[in-house]
Amino acid sequence: MSTTTVKASVLHGIRDLRVEWREIPPPGPSELQVSVRSTGICGSDQHYYNHYRNGDILIREPMSLGHESSGMVEAVGSDVPEGSFKVGDRVALEVGLACGTCELCTEGRYNICRSMSFRSSAKSFPHFQGTLQQRINHPAQWCHRLPESVSLTEGALLEPLSVAIHGVRRSQLSGTKTALVLGAGAVGLLTSAMLRVEGASKIVIADIDPQRVDFATQNEFADVGFAVPLKQGATIEAKLAIAQETAKLATTAAGLCGFDAVFECTGVETCVQTAIYVRLTSSSVQVLIPIQKVTDLAVNRPLAPEAE
Ligand SMILES: [Zn+2]
Ligand SMILES: [Zn+2]
Repeated sequence: MSTTTVKASVLHGIRDLRVEWREIPPPGPSELQVSVRSTGICGSDQHYYNHYRNGDILIREPMSLGHESSGMVEAVGSDVPEGSFKVGDRVALEVGLACGTCELCTEGRYNICRSMSFRSSAKSFPHFQGTLQQRINHPAQWCHRLPESVSLTEGALLEPLSVAIHGVRRSQLSGTKTALVLGAGAVGLLTSAMLRVEGASKIVIADIDPQRVDFATQNEFADVGFAVPLKQGATIEAKLAIAQETAKLATTAAGLCGFDAVFECTGVETCVQTAIYVRLTSSSVQVLIPIQKVTDLAVNRPLAPEAE
C-alpha cells in the first residue's frame, strides 16, 4: 500500500477553517488506517474554532479538530494480531494515547495520564491531529470494533458516553440516590442517562440555557430542571456568592437539603464551587469536563471533593 491523499479540515486561526489535501502513509505495523465516517463536535472543538485556544491551551500550529469518531478499517498494519481486525470492520476510536508506563497508567487510570496526547487537543506539541480528515492512521489497540447493532453515528457517541459511564461509576452511586447534574450539554445528558440506568431516584439538571433544560426534562433525562441566571463575579467572594446562590436554587428546585452525588459537566469555575456547596457531607463530586481555572474551590467545606 502506498501513500494516500486525503481531504482534511484544518483550523488555521480564529474561525479560519480550510479544506486541504494531506498525504498519509500506509498504517504503521501496529496501526489501522481508518476512514472516518462520523464525528461529534465537542465543546473543546468549538472553543478552538471560535478562539484558536481552549482556556489556557493555545493552538501553536494548524490543527484538525474532532475526536468523537467512528469509521471503517481500510488497511491493517503488519503486526496487528491476525483475526483482530480486517478491512471493512466498523470501529469506534479511543483518541487519547497514554504513555502506558507511568504510575497512573499502570494502575489502569490511563485516562488521567499526565503524558497523554489527545486528538484535536493543542496540549501536546506537535499537536495530535483530530479526526475531521477523510482517513487517519490510529493504533489498533485504541480502536474498538462495533457490533452490528450499533450504527456509526452511535459509535461516535461512545467517546462522550464513556466519560459519563466513568463518572457515574466513580461516584459509586447506586439504588435510590439523588443526583445533581450541572450542564445539559452532551456530557450532562449522557451522565443523566447513565444515572437512569443506575436507578437514581431523583435527577436534577441545571444549565444557563432554558431550552437545554427543557430538552433534558421533556425527554426524561432528568426529573427536575432549572435555568441558572447568567452572572459573573469579578472577585473570589462574588464568585463564591454566585455559587452559593446556585446551590440554593438546586436544593429548592429538588425539594432536598443536598444531593448524594454531583456531576460537574460544564467546565465552568463557579459550577465546581456550586458542586461543593450543594453536596451532602458523605457524597462525592465528579468533575467530568476539564476546568481551566479555579481560583477558590471552597474546599474548607467539610470534605474535600473527589474530582476527576
Ligand atoms: Zn470532547
Ligand atoms: Zn501514563
